[in-house]
Amino acid sequence: MTTPVQSTATERIPFARTTISDEAQQAVAKVLSSGWVTTGPEVAAFERDFAAWLGAEHAVAVASCSAALELSLRSLRLPPGSPVLSSTITFCGAVNAILHAGLRPVLVDVHPETLMPDADTTAAAVRRSGAPAAMVALHFAGHPAPVEALADAAGLPLDRVVEDAAHAVGTRVGDRAVGTISAATCFSFYATKNLPIGEGGMVTTGDAAIADYVRRSRLHGMSRDAWKRYLPGSSWRYSVDEAGLKANMTDVQAAIGRAQMGHFAGWQARRSEIVARYDRALAQVPGIGLPARPAEGGHAWHLYVIRVLPSFPLSRDQLIAHLHARGIDCSVHFIPMHTQPYLGRILGDEVDPGRFPAAETAFEQIVSLPLYPALGDEQVDRTCAAIAEAATHGNGAPVGNGGADENGQHR
Ligand SMILES: *Cc1c(COP(=O)(O)O)cnc(C)c1O
Repeated sequence: MTTPVQSTATERIPFARTTISDEAQQAVAKVLSSGWVTTGPEVAAFERDFAAWLGAEHAVAVASCSAALELSLRSLRLPPGSPVLSSTITFCGAVNAILHAGLRPVLVDVHPETLMPDADTTAAAVRRSGAPAAMVALHFAGHPAPVEALADAAGLPLDRVVEDAAHAVGTRVGDRAVGTISAATCFSFYATKNLPIGEGGMVTTGDAAIADYVRRSRLHGMSRDAWKRYLPGSSWRYSVDEAGLKANMTDVQAAIGRAQMGHFAGWQARRSEIVARYDRALAQVPGIGLPARPAEGGHAWHLYVIRVLPSFPLSRDQLIAHLHARGIDCSVHFIPMHTQPYLGRILGDEVDPGRFPAAETAFEQIVSLPLYPALGDEQVDRTCAAIAEAATHGNGAPVGNGGADENGQHR
């Protein structure tokens, strides 16, 4: 005889869970039965809504943030091989975009708490590698990056800065919305991001030439509005002006995105509640470093990244295993790019670990905890309790009062 599993207490807490609203599901059904499913009127409407919402002049929807970054960088028309700054703590898609645009990534070390480049690490990278042609500025976890100070430190005008806003729908730098600051800002609507569609991206810009370039290049480089050629009564004729990508957004995705926007404020409010709950509980746990809070502007809280400090009885990897064993899934954002084998082959000793001391240290400490609107208070409490338990009892076995022991409890 089996006993029914007593749920809640033992239910797994996944690292991420995508909420697709009822309105989005209804909007998809409408598009699917409309006879037009690829790039079309829904994409145009999503672009108008998104631009108006941020206060950006232009928004161009694409297949992903990775494609948004590549096309934005291509739109700057830099000489092939030009150096482009990027944080070493970023997603590989962002660095691949630099390479696919025919440019050369120059990786930058981070501040130990914000986990992003600051003016000092940026200036140090420029001293070491020479003047860059452009920069990709990342708002890590949704924390605002000081875009203008970083551009200054790199000796670049703002029109040579492309922002990676994959974590930053809703982030504000000072009183400016991310999406209205630099040459081009690239957003992601990937399943785990804070405005999820599943897949998708957007470029916002105040520069009509950049908007036009991205609009053409997302669909093979075909002349403007080539998607209209199959609409009733439209002309079949087009010209190809660039060797573009196939990186357009479909009307199915755009319909989801438009409907999801109506829920964004509520979802962000829930994220803030969860963050406050984590902060309150984890501030009591010795050896855990809480995520940095911006002095000004607004944090979008895409990720909640704690640091497992050397005084904690478990290493980062041990804490992740401890949580996993208790049904709690975590992640790590990100494995520093300077440690990835392919960049070693391309960049040689420019990716020597000695050049990235803060990223090296941070990488051994960081853990991203579950953070999404569907996460319940009990799940947050269970996660915090499991971390607190590890702080006092180690990996299930009693360890000293927070000190390292001789049995490899410490890295
Ligand atoms: C998710 C992510 C991207 C890529 O977004 P896609 O839409 O999946 O291409 C780029 N940069 C960062 C920092 C990300 O987290």
